[in-house]
Amino acid sequence: MKYIGAHVSAAGGVDKAVVRAHELDATAFALFTKNQRQWRAAPLSGEVINAFREACEKYRFTSAQILPHDSYLINLGHPQQEALDKSREAFLDEMRRCEQLGLSLLNFHPGSHLQQIDEEACLKRIAESINIALDQTQGVTAVIENTAGQGSNLGFRFEHLAAIIDGVEDKSRVGVCIDTCHAFAGGYDLRTEAACVDTFAEFDRTVGFDFLRGMHLNDAKSEFASRVDRHHSLGEGNIGKTVFSWLMKDARFDGIPLILETVNPDIWKDEIAWLRSEQK
Ligand SMILES: [Zn+2]
Ligand SMILES: [Zn+2]
Repeated sequence: MKYIGAHVSAAGGVDKAVVRAHELDATAFALFTKNQRQWRAAPLSGEVINAFREACEKYRFTSAQILPHDSYLINLGHPQQEALDKSREAFLDEMRRCEQLGLSLLNFHPGSHLQQIDEEACLKRIAESINIALDQTQGVTAVIENTAGQGSNLGFRFEHLAAIIDGVEDKSRVGVCIDTCHAFAGGYDLRTEAACVDTFAEFDRTVGFDFLRGMHLNDAKSEFASRVDRHHSLGEGNIGKTVFSWLMKDARFDGIPLILETVNPDIWKDEIAWLRSEQK
């Protein structure tokens, strides 16, 4: 069973995101549980938590179909201690919000070395940041997203994801989310079926499908291996539709949220319907 949806707005409250997902005929969705561009947020009220849980029940979304995304400000591999602590605190808050909402996954970008420490040291910091958060929470899996590798962002190589997982103590609560645009921009070809087979064989050898907890389905405005992160609507960019149609027929992508972060929300409903129709 494929869970297909989009990263919907939570404007007006997280419970509104559930309704928006339902209106798209989605069977999955992503959301921010707080403003993604601010450090602080008011705690979730009991009222909002209940409204969210009730909406999920009403529209039949289980936690396996929901992939919350953390704030863009957080850098779990920050080279400076004070800033690292601030990020770790904010990440823990994000995990706790997920716990309160009954969610079981939290998707995040691994972190950046900012040209101040080497890759290995940064990856170790990220793993340690995850350990700290997992120690203080229950039931939420840390889902590391691969990146396009823009600037000093790590996570654009599958080896980076594997190194972080290696440093995480509780392997049952760490996983990955593969963003097709980021993979393509990071140098993993997805333009033909043969390329998809090769890329995901490499993913399986390096990370393993056991750790796959979600996918972001995006075409790319950016060029292959450009390390530039620019999403596009399915079939409109440099990857093309082949990978999405291929994914929909492959059982290794069953049972996890498959989330659109494409650039035109007006056509999400059509994109979801098209993906669904490609399953057979
Ligand atoms: Zn992301
Ligand atoms: Zn993404």
